[in-house]
Amino acid sequence: MSNKQLVRVRFAPSPTGDLHVGNIRTALFDWAYARHTGGKLIFRIEDTDTERVTDQYIKAAIETLKWLGLNWDEGPEVGGEYGPYLQSQRLEIYATWAQKFLDQKDAYHCYCSAEELEDRRQAQMKNNQAPGYDGKCRDLSADQVEKFKQEGRKPVVRMRMPDGETVFTDAIRGEVRFEHKYVPDFVLARADGSPLYTLAVAVDDVLMKITHVLRGEDLLSSTPRQIRVYQAMGVKPEQYPVFAHLPFVMGQDNAKLSKRNGEVSIAWYREQGFLPEAICNYLALLGWSPGDDRENITMAELVELFTVERVNSSPARFDMKKLEAINGDKIRALKLEEFLDRSLPFLINAKVISGSADEIEIVKSALPIIQERIVKLAEIPQMLSFLFIKDFKVAAEEVSKITDEASQNVLKVALSKVEALTSWDHASIESSLRKALIDDLGLKPRVAFSALRIAVTGSHISPPLFESLQLLGKARSIDRIKALPNAIVTGK
Ligand code: GLU
Repeated sequence: MSNKQLVRVRFAPSPTGDLHVGNIRTALFDWAYARHTGGKLIFRIEDTDTERVTDQYIKAAIETLKWLGLNWDEGPEVGGEYGPYLQSQRLEIYATWAQKFLDQKDAYHCYCSAEELEDRRQAQMKNNQAPGYDGKCRDLSADQVEKFKQEGRKPVVRMRMPDGETVFTDAIRGEVRFEHKYVPDFVLARADGSPLYTLAVAVDDVLMKITHVLRGEDLLSSTPRQIRVYQAMGVKPEQYPVFAHLPFVMGQDNAKLSKRNGEVSIAWYREQGFLPEAICNYLALLGWSPGDDRENITMAELVELFTVERVNSSPARFDMKKLEAINGDKIRALKLEEFLDRSLPFLINAKVISGSADEIEIVKSALPIIQERIVKLAEIPQMLSFLFIKDFKVAAEEVSKITDEASQNVLKVALSKVEALTSWDHASIESSLRKALIDDLGLKPRVAFSALRIAVTGSHISPPLFESLQLLGKARSIDRIKALPNAIVTGK
């Protein structure tokens, strides 16, 4: 995709909820393209549908992009030469253009009511005709207009679609053709004057000097209408932005990813403890390839390698397992201080710690032993809570796993061994317990250690046992084992 001018690419969501995978994949590609080309990323909020796009969602969208590290050069908070960047603040601009199109006879007032349109649509479908506006108000006489006005009808502004076709070259799909018999005259502005998406998006792309439109494939079919608006604005074909429609993202069930088959907001991934760099890494691979089969890429590599030529036109499949695997890799790659910073909010939110310096020290010593074991930061509270619980009790369902005679025997032997230990480091603990339980008693490690794990951590899922014992300290480890028979008796 070559274009000599400075690249100006925009991300233009209509946040009717929290941004989700599809939105962010688009934002990421827009960002990567702007950064790769040394161009500018324009962030525009398409909030003309004020009922569905709320301030809260706009704020959340801004926050999500920031969290992901997808910075923009023009848009909310940073401003820019072509603002405002919220469409709700540009209504007069759209109204002026709609009036101009009326004056130029590119558009006309349409007085058809919603019911009339619906009746005619039903009739078209019955007659096997493509549904769409039939041009009824295209050339109304002054008398007809007068009559409609007297009936109290308020007109919408409708764009006249000429005969013929729209042909353009999509940077991902190649030549795309739309015959206008399937692109009926369309509404630009409602009866109350408010603009529709097609008007606002096209006017803004022109006024904001957008050179490249990378967006989801679902918007491909709106392109001929937008091109029609460019034409009415007097834009020459060579000045149209380059369009690149990104492939759909499918769910595991091969249907387009949607709420129904598991698409959830980026806010959810954040709560689960997916790292922003893992989300970006994974989403970069949804429809784009770095040119080889590597799956772990950094943001810097993405910027260096991102070209639209490497975007695939066939749909990409969202695979949660792969995202988790990448997240696990990114967690393992974190330096301890960074891992600590990212973990603390999860522990504090889950009320495992309050955030005191002492607690933070314990967390810091514990993190290296779980770094290999977790795929999401949200697993950390459960993994480390055993270190912080004051009134430690083993849950009844876990207790029930260690009431058998073999487990009780393991605990008895283990207790005597750890009590006798003079040095409390995980290697000494391990060698003493292995000798007593595995070598001498001939138990399988799983059997031998799972009772002990439950006894001291309260769960059969925990960080490595010997490191856990070391972190817990000798006295507390012993106390917990000793407290158990009691717990078993009372069934707590
Ligand atoms: N605001 C539109 C949407 O969220 C996208 C506009 C565009 O990229 O052209 O669906």
